[in-house]
Amino acid sequence: MDFESYNPEPTLVVPEHITKRAKFPFIDVHNHQFRMGTMDLDSLIMEMEKLNMQVMVNLSGRGGEELVKMVENINTNEPKRFIVFTNINFNGVGEKDWAEKAVKQLETDIKNGANGLKIYKSLGMISKDIHGNRIPVDDTRLDAIWKKAGELKIPVLIHTADPKPFWDEMDEKNERWLELATRPGRKRGPDDPVPFEKLIEEQHNMFKAHPGTTFINAHFGWYPNDLKYLGSLLDKMPNMMIEFGAIIAELGRQPRTAYDFFVKYQDRILFGKDSWVPDEYVTYFRVLETKDEYFPYHKKYHAFWAMYGMGLPDDILKKIYYKNALRIIPGIDATLFPE
Ligand SMILES: [Zn+2]
Repeated sequence: MDFESYNPEPTLVVPEHITKRAKFPFIDVHNHQFRMGTMDLDSLIMEMEKLNMQVMVNLSGRGGEELVKMVENINTNEPKRFIVFTNINFNGVGEKDWAEKAVKQLETDIKNGANGLKIYKSLGMISKDIHGNRIPVDDTRLDAIWKKAGELKIPVLIHTADPKPFWDEMDEKNERWLELATRPGRKRGPDDPVPFEKLIEEQHNMFKAHPGTTFINAHFGWYPNDLKYLGSLLDKMPNMMIEFGAIIAELGRQPRTAYDFFVKYQDRILFGKDSWVPDEYVTYFRVLETKDEYFPYHKKYHAFWAMYGMGLPDDILKKIYYKNALRIIPGIDATLFPE
C-alpha cells in the first residue's frame, strides 16, 4: 500500500452537523461560468437553490461581445441572481496606446452590465509584453486600469501566484506533494517565472499604489496558513478584501485561530469557492457554521488532514455570506437578503 491509497476509516464518534445548505442566503464572489452567454440558467439556479446561494458572481465575463451575450441571457432569464465581472486581455502591453484602449474597453464593459474586474494569475506568471518580457503585477503601464476601476467604483478581484509549496522542493516535507505528483505542471521554481515572494510583493505594491481602488485578494492572498501575517497585511492595506476560494482546508485545520481572525476581520472577508462543484460547498458551510470535529475534506491533494468547524456566530456569518459583498460589489439587490 502507498501513501495515496492509505485512507483509514475514523473510529471517532462525535456529533455531526452535515450542512448541505447555508444558514443564510449567500453571495459566492468567486465562480467561473465560461459559457454563461448560451447556457441554461434555470438548471444553474436549481443547483444554487439547494445550497441557498442567492447570487453567483461569474468572474469569467471575458469582456466585449461575450460579456454582452452573458448579460443579455441573465437579464432575459434570471435577472438579480447573477453578477458578471469582466476580464482584461494583456496582449499588446508595450504598445503606445494599449492602456488607453484597455481603459476604454473596461468602461464599455461596465456600461454593458459588468460589475467588477477579475484578473487571472496569468498576470505576473505568463503574460508577456510586446518585447517578450514578463509583465509584473505592479507594472506601471497597467496603472490606468486600476485607477479607472477606482473611479468606476468597481472592485478588482485578483488572483496572484499559487500556493507557496509549489515553489518548494518536491519532497517528503512538501504539504502539496500529492498535488505536484498528480499535476506536475503546477511545479514552480525561483526562475519559473520568479520567486513566490516576488509575485506577492508586486501585488502588494500595486494595492498600495492605488488606495482608492478596492481589491479582493483571491484565495486569502495565499496566506491562509499564516493568519497573523495576513492580518498584518489587512492592517497595512485598508483597500484589500480577501476571499477564501479553494483554501477552506487551511481554515478547517486551525478553527480557533481562524475564529479569532474572522472576529477581528469580519468586515474584510468574502465568501468565495472557485471551482463549481456543488457537492463541495458542504465543507465550506460546515467549517464556517458548525463546531464539528474531525470531518473529511473533499480533495486529498489540498489536504490530507481532517476539518474542524469554527462555529461562527450569526452576525459574522451574515457579513461573510452577503453583507460585505453587498457593500463592495455594485448591482446586487439587497432586498434579496435578510437584515
Ligand atoms: Zn478562480
